[in-house]
Amino acid sequence: MTLASNHTIIVTPIGKVENTLCEYVGDQIRQQFDFETDVVDLLDDIAFALNTERSQHHSTPILEKLEMTAPARALKVLAITDVDLFIPILTHVYGEAQLGGKAAIVSTFRLKEDLKVFTTEAFKQRIEKEAIHELGHTFKLIHCKDHKCIMHYCRSIRDVDRKTDSLCRYCRIMLEDEVRRL
Ligand SMILES: [Zn+2]
Ligand SMILES: [Zn+2]
Repeated sequence: MTLASNHTIIVTPIGKVENTLCEYVGDQIRQQFDFETDVVDLLDDIAFALNTERSQHHSTPILEKLEMTAPARALKVLAITDVDLFIPILTHVYGEAQLGGKAAIVSTFRLKEDLKVFTTEAFKQRIEKEAIHELGHTFKLIHCKDHKCIMHYCRSIRDVDRKTDSLCRYCRIMLEDEVRRL
């Protein structure tokens, strides 16, 4: 696998997101995708994406902005935000990504939901799963029927907890094929 200088995956916080969380997610990304990662601040104001009626942020324009502001060395850029995200057809989303594109975003807002015993570890694991899921889409991975696979689409927090933090064999092969084409 090539590690050219433009093959860095940037992790970027938006809002009140701890740097240690970004570093943690960056470590997991490095393990799963085998690319260098770096935590960089890119956007400090996402008011342009706020829908005041819904009190939520529309994720799609944030992805466009991330794509525009990403440094040249960024192969992909993943934002982690604490604000609640939506796309118009859904009440909320855990994240969104540009399929086969550069930008992905994940929200921690709904991932605290229903944790029987709140531990940072369990919370971090959910964020990691949804972050890697969204990044997977930027590598052209689509939703997987295998409910244990990280590319499985999660309608509820139960689904998130049920899936593992790994790609199934099929998705792993699809990812390797895509990385080889880069
Ligand atoms: Zn998805
Ligand atoms: Zn899969």
